[in-house]
Amino acid sequence: MSGTNPATPGATPGTSPSAGPLDLSMMARALALADQAADLGEVPVGAVVYRTSDGTILGEGFNRREIDKDPAAHAEFAAIMAACRATGDWRLNDCSLAVTLEPCPMCAGLIVNARVGRVLYGADDPKAGACRSLFAITTDTRLNHRAELVSGVMAEESATKLRSFFRGLRARGG
Ligand SMILES: [Zn+2]
Repeated sequence: MSGTNPATPGATPGTSPSAGPLDLSMMARALALADQAADLGEVPVGAVVYRTSDGTILGEGFNRREIDKDPAAHAEFAAIMAACRATGDWRLNDCSLAVTLEPCPMCAGLIVNARVGRVLYGADDPKAGACRSLFAITTDTRLNHRAELVSGVMAEESATKLRSFFRGLRARGG
């Protein structure tokens, strides 16, 4: 579980990125936001954008695709847009994104365009993941920005929420 190594992120050049205590507390917040989505009948995904240096939360979001009838209403999309509004800047180089599920191609594209400095995510998404599973958009050297990527952060908690949500849907015949 290198993703949950409590080392300071980026402290030692040459070592692979990992999640520190601040990152884990942010992922815990993202998991709580995922619960809010589930309470509304949405697939439970939550996200937080925070200043990497001091953990100031700049934007939060959870999946609202069904409620908003909006294909872009993904948790991390909302959190990034909120952070840009909060900072008055479209560049988030000094920020980290903690999201409970691996971002999709749309959100990975937004991460690159918003210059998000770091991305930490929980569960892999083998059907839509665009950080590692299907594509590696956020670390593709052909693009003009790369985010530091830490995968598998509190992944089991995230995957458990997703599994129980879909189990509930099937039980209701949904
Ligand atoms: Zn997405």
